[in-house]
Amino acid sequence: MSIMPGAMLGLLGGGQLGRMFTMAAQSMGYRVTVLDPADNGPSSSIADRHLRADYLDSDALHELGCACAGVTTEFENVPAESLRILAEHCVVSPAASSVTIAQDRILEKKFLATNGFEVAPYAVIQDLPNSNNLDEVLPQVHSALFPGLFPAILKVSRFGYDGKGQVRVGNAAELGSAFAGMNGEACVLEQLLPLESEVSVIVARGFDGEVVTFPVSENQHRHGILDVSIIPARVSPVIIERARDIAIQIAEKLDHCGVLCVEFFVLADGRLLVNEIAPRPHNSGHYTLDACITSQFEQQVRILCGMPLGSAAMHGAAVMVNLLGDLWQRGEPRWEQVLRHPAAKLHLYGKFAARPGRKMGHYTVLAETVEAALQLALEIKQSLQG
Ligand code: ATP
Ligand code: MG
Repeated sequence: MSIMPGAMLGLLGGGQLGRMFTMAAQSMGYRVTVLDPADNGPSSSIADRHLRADYLDSDALHELGCACAGVTTEFENVPAESLRILAEHCVVSPAASSVTIAQDRILEKKFLATNGFEVAPYAVIQDLPNSNNLDEVLPQVHSALFPGLFPAILKVSRFGYDGKGQVRVGNAAELGSAFAGMNGEACVLEQLLPLESEVSVIVARGFDGEVVTFPVSENQHRHGILDVSIIPARVSPVIIERARDIAIQIAEKLDHCGVLCVEFFVLADGRLLVNEIAPRPHNSGHYTLDACITSQFEQQVRILCGMPLGSAAMHGAAVMVNLLGDLWQRGEPRWEQVLRHPAAKLHLYGKFAARPGRKMGHYTVLAETVEAALQLALEIKQSLQG
């Protein structure tokens, strides 16, 4: 049964991904209630209603579930339990099962590896020998266990994002102090790979199993944070096809109904390893707002409401550049540097405090070719940085 425009939709999370979902929903005539513990978030400040409460607040969940025909989430770190409770009242997408896997690197890697999707070599680090002197114990334990794993990256299993909760570990001797810095949280130790490039695919999958994939994005990160996305990705057609194929297979294996992003590492020999999955729209899919017939956020609305999916076809090539808080160091950036280019589109998320590393907005440059889009995008980037 479809949810018709005019209905109230619910959203867990107050950030920019939720803001763009809310805009897409409202532009199709839906209303949106946001559940977010914080005040003045990018999504709650434009929503029709803001329930200010914890994600596990049972009264708030009951109220949201009764007031809304369908509920979605803008990030995977909401308690999966909240989605389970909401599903007793209304349509929920993504399901608790998708979120449970994607919010925990250990479960995520196990899910991928056991289903035959190749991931970087890794080890789970959680049961440490009960010793005060980790530096003495760990190298013996771990160089014996994972001889080929170093240099590696230690990643906290839960609640990491934008490279937070990650530290490089050059050799087994450094593992003890690196793990000590993770406050006893379970971690994944992952081999540091020489990456040829990184790509991602956004998949939209409806409750009826209908699947649409967006064009593959090539992603450049800086300090673990997405910096620039280039679409279509400059990789071979074979890699493009395989990336789309793997992304669909993952969505199907998860029985995921919703939007899903699959991030890949591309190695020099053309191998594609799955880095991580996000059961929601993703920063690397922001280009779809301006460059595709249907955006990733509109697909999220369509899926939640049981509507047919839209076309993911692109109007041309696109390059998206993230705007981090660092750019505000010398005051408000000069936005005319972006806007004087007719094919550049500016998106700001309405955040009040511009902290370094905080995602404040992005712009997308459209052009006929990737080269032209990239050149202009980088020119704009330089002029903004002054
Ligand atoms: P996100 O914001 O995408 O959730 P995250 O904090 O979960 O990011 P990852 O995607 O695991 O972090 O890593 C961030 C970036 O760090 C990657 O996109 C990649 O550039 C680099 N990186 C992570 N793991 C590895 C690795 N094993 N080898 C080489 N580079 C890596
Ligand atoms: Mg990532």
